Amino acid sequence: MTTDRSEKTKIVILGGGFAGLEAAFTLKGLLGSSAGITLIDRSPYHYFIPSIHEIISGKVEAQQIRIPLRTMLAPAGIDFIQEEVLALDSGRHQVSTDNTALDYDYLVLGIGAENNFFNIPGAAERAYRFRSAENAERIRRELVRIMADESCDYTVMIAGGGTEGVEVAGEVADAVEKGCGRDALLSGRVTIELIEGQDRLLPGFPDRVRSFAGDHLMKRGVTLTTGSRIIEVRKDSVVLDGGAIRPVSLLIWTGGIQPPKLITTLSLPKDPFGWLKVNEHLQAFDDDRVYGVGDSISCYRGEEPLHIARLAYHAQDQARIAALNIANHLEGRGLVPYAPKNKPQLVSLGREMGLYIEGDEFHTGAWVVSLKKGIEKQHLLAYLTKPVSGALWSKVPGSELLNRLWLQRAV
Ligand SMILES: Cc1cc2nc3c(=O)[nH]c(=O)nc-3n(C[C@H](O)[C@H](O)[C@H](O)COP(=O)(O)OP(=O)(O)OC[C@H]3O[C@@H](n4cnc5c(N)ncnc54)[C@H](O)[C@@H]3O)c2cc1C
Repeated sequence: MTTDRSEKTKIVILGGGFAGLEAAFTLKGLLGSSAGITLIDRSPYHYFIPSIHEIISGKVEAQQIRIPLRTMLAPAGIDFIQEEVLALDSGRHQVSTDNTALDYDYLVLGIGAENNFFNIPGAAERAYRFRSAENAERIRRELVRIMADESCDYTVMIAGGGTEGVEVAGEVADAVEKGCGRDALLSGRVTIELIEGQDRLLPGFPDRVRSFAGDHLMKRGVTLTTGSRIIEVRKDSVVLDGGAIRPVSLLIWTGGIQPPKLITTLSLPKDPFGWLKVNEHLQAFDDDRVYGVGDSISCYRGEEPLHIARLAYHAQDQARIAALNIANHLEGRGLVPYAPKNKPQLVSLGREMGLYIEGDEFHTGAWVVSLKKGIEKQHLLAYLTKPVSGALWSKVPGSELLNRLWLQRAV
């Protein structure tokens, strides 16, 4: 396909999460008015997803960690369509929603991931999903409902002891302490049970991180069941692989993710788990006009997968590279390879305790929770002010070239 340069290049971005939003603003900074950029998301908001666990304890409300996409994008000259994308025809370079069919010259695909229930009977129907602010609000409502019972006798089960599972366990403990008192937890009247298939929490993290998280949650009254998997979810109970049946009032699913349905229906190559396969320039295999960014992708160098953790900062770095490569591709320049960078990971364990992990460096303390909060505020503010700062910056002669140079150094 050739792009008529007398017309604006049409760039469509799917998803207004960490990856899609960063791609939109970076492309705008690089291409200015030479491209028509449209972002599509089914949600009217961009959420700071790493804080959604705090909705469960009632520490924050969804509206405190979100910003409206249209309000942010319109002043920057980026079109926004609030619709669910139902189909992507990479052969015809077209995406469709219920109401619109949109042609593109370049597509940036950043639609995140979904909960994976691994075909466990009853799980998809009965467990509470935990991937979005809406999911967290629904969990909060149910938790408030069961806590309203004055007997304070119930079991909250969290399935999956990765970072999301331990963060949820900490928040549920905070909510229960506040609603029923610490004694209810320590005496065993209220049970918070965290189930993990491996022998300890936080698979993939260094041993001392895993031990600290487990010890801390147990001290707070959380029951840890490790080396066990749920094999069936019933109305008021779950069945474990050893045959034990555990009563459960509320089951929260933090036990794995899978690609969204839209990705699975694409005719482009996927990795063995169904994620969109992209090369080191973040282009889909077999289609150099489709760029994949964020949680939806599996990035390969040659035939080797890079095994990149699905994290917000990787999503943003990938978005910058994809944007730079679209600009480079358009202008006939060489493409830049994506190389993942390690940054600290912050994990909260509820009230006044967090884990800071960066390679071999490991720290704990309440300050980690404050740092996480600071990053949330800084993130939301940065995007809210981008239209104004971007518009002012674009008036500076040579700003597009400076953007490119800055990006090339930064990524
Ligand atoms: C509970 C939780 C805690 C986390 N904590 C951290 C953390 O502390 N640090 C960290 O670095 N990372 C963290 N992550 C991971 C981080 O949030 C993700 O890596 C990041 O959100 C990925 O960005 P993304 O843009 O790929 O996807 P998302 O941010 O999920 O955005 C995808 C967007 O696509 C939209 N969308 C999806 N399908 C469609 C469709 N068919 N049509 C239209 N729109 C669609 C969605 O509405 C959404 O806005 C956490 C994730 C979770 C779930």
